[in-house]
Amino acid sequence: MTTIRAADLIDSVADALQFISYYHPQDFIDAMGAAYAVEESPAARDAIAQILTNSRLCAEGHRPLCQDTGIVVAFVKVGLGARIDMAGHEGMGLADLVNEGVRRAYQLPENRLRASIVADPAFKRVNTRDNTPAVTHVELVPGDAIDITVAAKGGGSENKAHFAMLNPSDSVADWVLSVVPEMGAGWCPPGMLGIGIGGTAEHAMVLAKESLMEPIDLPVLRARGAQTPLEKLRLEIVDRVNALGIGAQGLGGLTTLLDVKIRDYPTHAASLPVAVIPNCAATRHVHFTLDGSGRAVLPVPDLSRWPKVDWAPDNSVRRVSLDGLTREEMATWRAGERLLVSGKLLTGRDAAHKRICALLEAGEPLPEGLSFENRVIYYVGPVDPVGHEVVGPAGPTTANRMDRFTETMLGKAGLLAMIGKAERGEEAVDVIARHGAAYLIAVGGAAFLVARAIRASRVVAFPELGMEAVYEFEVQDMPVTVAVTTKGESVHASGPAAWKGRHVAIPVVAG
Ligand code: SF4
Repeated sequence: MTTIRAADLIDSVADALQFISYYHPQDFIDAMGAAYAVEESPAARDAIAQILTNSRLCAEGHRPLCQDTGIVVAFVKVGLGARIDMAGHEGMGLADLVNEGVRRAYQLPENRLRASIVADPAFKRVNTRDNTPAVTHVELVPGDAIDITVAAKGGGSENKAHFAMLNPSDSVADWVLSVVPEMGAGWCPPGMLGIGIGGTAEHAMVLAKESLMEPIDLPVLRARGAQTPLEKLRLEIVDRVNALGIGAQGLGGLTTLLDVKIRDYPTHAASLPVAVIPNCAATRHVHFTLDGSGRAVLPVPDLSRWPKVDWAPDNSVRRVSLDGLTREEMATWRAGERLLVSGKLLTGRDAAHKRICALLEAGEPLPEGLSFENRVIYYVGPVDPVGHEVVGPAGPTTANRMDRFTETMLGKAGLLAMIGKAERGEEAVDVIARHGAAYLIAVGGAAFLVARAIRASRVVAFPELGMEAVYEFEVQDMPVTVAVTTKGESVHASGPAAWKGRHVAIPVVAG
């Protein structure tokens, strides 16, 4: 029987969560680098360049890859020959030990991570402040070690999960192809799809999530050829999805998926449960084993293997001042045009919008000093700063969650434009056009790079909302793309349409 100290388990989980907050897995970087090499869509290529540059900066600076540092998911496989020495941690269960690791990782002063978890999810939605609890899956397995995989799953990609109970005669590939367009770009492609087939409703979801912990090996599979029906299905889904032309950030391009992973399990003769969960540009997971010899040691990646991509503001791109911005100037912006914006931005996301719109609808004043008249809002919930930072990583959040507030924000609050990520709903696009407003996108998954454009930050309203407070940022050359013009033209419609039907196989990268 092997004895594993509870303290080693806690420390290892904490170390692993810090590790994945700033290091992408090597297989993901190899696949993203290969996608960059073959991408022909300028907009998608620029977005991938930002993601790759962000990745290297985060690895060097030990700061989070994305402002959404995720909900922690742990897969813990406990060998039947292992016991945990609970000295100093009496009364705790295995999930409590994982949660203690989460608490320590997310509150590490040198690299504080964003606390995104809210308790009482259907009602009060109170932030737990330390990103606990994790979702911990425990399995008892043969052996005398404890095998742990931890992941930090972004909300934008988790929100796009789908499940269906198909008829046994239905095509899994057809169903996946029917749901991927509904996912839009809020899951920050390029990334992966995890698919779970079989078992029961809840087991299919777990299979899908666990499949995302496997390394990307699509180019190798393509090179050697599919040898099983599941491998054939992977290739079919990758090729058909990439032929949709969605591309990086939904801007239209050759690569939407870097890989598809599938796990299956026997099921009832009457059922065909299928789950699909995407993994985003901030793919974060690591695996380690505890064998009783101490805390896990995670190998530091070799950054010389990161692609030599160094995104910098392009001087040929139109520069826009946010201070004194007019509707006449905005009317000259074209869908898909890249801009570098400078000046003052207000921020706000779900909770702030809810409060602001409630006040406006009730005819009550906004908090002292808060006015959206002729201003631009950035949908963001930043990470707290450390050291000399004015703000931590601060990438965009999914904009369509703010669609229901758009009429009020444009019509009553006097907002000019919005910056977020991914597509807006049809109704919101109509509202934007009716008000002669505009919607811009920044690259999801490039949060540390985007934050370098932020030169000053102050809280303007609702400080009690933490990362959801309204801030004023002063930005210099912040890279954005025009996603919806003042006339209601949407790059998320025109981009994929232009790249639909085209496909390039991602080559194998030498290890
Ligand atoms: S890359 Fe996109 S989906 Fe992933 S955590 Fe960041 S914002 Fe969320």
